Amino acid sequence: MKVTGIETFAVKMKERRIRNLGIVAHVDAGKTTVTEQMLYLSGATRAAGNVDKGTSLSDALEVEKKRGISVRASALSFAWKGVQVNLIDTPGHVDFSAEVERSLRVLDCAVLVLSAVEGVQAQSEPLWDALEALGIPVIVFVNKIDRMGSDVAGVVAEVQRVFSKDAVLVNGVVEEGFDAAGLAALEAEQYGELVEKVAERDDGLLERYLEGGTLEPEEIEHALAAATGARGLFPVLCGAAKNRVGIEELLDAIAAYFPDAGTDAQAPVSGVVFRIDHDERLGRVAGVRMYAGRLATRDVVENYTAGREEKVAQIKRSATAKLEDVGVLEAGDIGFLCGLPAARIGDVLGDPAPVPGDYALSEPLLSVQVVPAEEADHAALAKALQQLASEDPHLNFRWYAEERELHVKIMGAIQTEILTEILRTRFGIAARFGEPTVVYKETPAGEGYGEESYTMPKPCWAIVKYRLEPLPRGSGVEYHSEVSVDQIKLKYQREIEASIGEALKQGIKGWEVTDLKITLVDGSDHVLHSRPGNFKLATNIALMQGQVATDTKLLEPMIGYRIAGPEEIVGKVTADIIEMRGIFEPAQMGAGSFVLEGRFPLATSMDYAIRLSAMSGGKAKLALRFAGYEECPEGLGIEREYRGISPLDRSKYILLMRGAITPSVSG
Ligand code: GDP
Repeated sequence: MKVTGIETFAVKMKERRIRNLGIVAHVDAGKTTVTEQMLYLSGATRAAGNVDKGTSLSDALEVEKKRGISVRASALSFAWKGVQVNLIDTPGHVDFSAEVERSLRVLDCAVLVLSAVEGVQAQSEPLWDALEALGIPVIVFVNKIDRMGSDVAGVVAEVQRVFSKDAVLVNGVVEEGFDAAGLAALEAEQYGELVEKVAERDDGLLERYLEGGTLEPEEIEHALAAATGARGLFPVLCGAAKNRVGIEELLDAIAAYFPDAGTDAQAPVSGVVFRIDHDERLGRVAGVRMYAGRLATRDVVENYTAGREEKVAQIKRSATAKLEDVGVLEAGDIGFLCGLPAARIGDVLGDPAPVPGDYALSEPLLSVQVVPAEEADHAALAKALQQLASEDPHLNFRWYAEERELHVKIMGAIQTEILTEILRTRFGIAARFGEPTVVYKETPAGEGYGEESYTMPKPCWAIVKYRLEPLPRGSGVEYHSEVSVDQIKLKYQREIEASIGEALKQGIKGWEVTDLKITLVDGSDHVLHSRPGNFKLATNIALMQGQVATDTKLLEPMIGYRIAGPEEIVGKVTADIIEMRGIFEPAQMGAGSFVLEGRFPLATSMDYAIRLSAMSGGKAKLALRFAGYEECPEGLGIEREYRGISPLDRSKYILLMRGAITPSVSG
């Protein structure tokens, strides 16, 4: 066994072969143990910690986190055979794919750990779906082959059935189910399957294979790597992390099969802030993934999203033993930047072109009220939440001063635990979260018009008329203008366009308005009287009035589910789903078991995982994913009062916008 010392780390990194890797798993499959062993074998830690004794590095990092030092755990770097692996922290619990997605965006490759005994579990499925949606190559690691009941062949078949038929076993097992379990060459039949699958994905090899020629092991490895990088194949390796079996092979596979993240370091700088940590010693630290170019300490970089320049004070990398200064960060790499006091998650630094996807992360589906344990902490809590929301815009913090209510949006119940902890440790505030409520949306029920002539009291002038039309589910908002720039000057047309998003935040039923087309059909400005802000005000009023004209329908978030369980409960499960207003495809029945797929509303299914587990005695498996918004049946959703002063309360609203009365909403 070759151990690479941490001293050689810097030297190795010069070669710039990088893997931004995530390890994902259902709780207890062995993610922590696999990580510990990889760090130990790479030489990044001197002794392999033990999760059962509480001596793992993750345990140590957990303690640090509690003390307000959180950066180190979010991306650990180590070297393996000349490859720099940045191990990125991914959530252990998955409520909905949205939460996973935000941390998975930054990965180039992932290892999915499964237990050889339990196989595919509830949380493995949304993880797999998210990796698929983001096009991230995956290696599957089947852990715990030493445990009684280990069934690698069964798990591989399950992976092929549930995830992808392109999963292929690349190493065999001996003494399966015993403490002495180890790796071995594949059996002839298994090897045949591997060769066939690899050949099918490489024209040159396929021709030779079909003609009965032999393929060299190196050729197979090479083609397997190409196919893995393209998500054409998913290598399945196995092992027993606890006994350090299969870990070296896993590291080799990570280095050999996954594509290199390094891209063009000569190109202009391009990076994305993928997380914000607040470190006790360093202050605000931005985790940045570089897509192109090269950043050095003291460089001034454009924050493209925020439209301002930022100066990089320090660049750090977490090399398990300590946080080290690296001075530069190049294309493909991940590092932590200090000195960007206002950076937010999702900010693009430099050139946006090389950044894949739009980083429009999925939205939180639940809204929850936060209440301080001590009423005297109300203002401090509001400030703390404002701070957290500035780091993570998805919290969508709203402070309703008149009602003395603080609200945030969350992805799932787990997040409230995390937030409670952060508020306690970082801000010293004890806070409680209320019952989460579903975040509804609304959409026009038909076509209609809304208009506003804001011409008094002078100086002001903005006349607008909009047509509102419903669009199909999932379309979002479209805006068009049929009005010439002679009627309304370009700068005011821009103001209108920029104000529409905010204007649709609260509709006439109190929720965000979506799936509609807005067309500016008429209007005018005034050479003397029009002022910046006038068209924003008029637009807010006109769009609200437009909604009164069209009336709106509530939309509710739907959750796609997949339930697998013993045959005898299928009747009970289908009855429950009907009760929850859910729908399902015909059940697939197999040897004593069933699989049922469909959709149900989030509102009726929030505690379904617990209910299903109780009903099935823990034998049923449930996988959930966000499945979009659908129309909520009449009378079932929740309508809210407008928070703050509604644009429909026209004169009061105009006073508010003119600064004559104080706002009651901030956030
Ligand atoms: P995580 O929740 O996915 O991070 O899983 P952990 O690494 O904490 O492991 C969960 C439990 O499984 C612990 O008790 C580990 O000791 C145990 N475990 C991990 N790997 C193996 C293995 O290869 N064989 C056996 N028998 N147990 C293992």
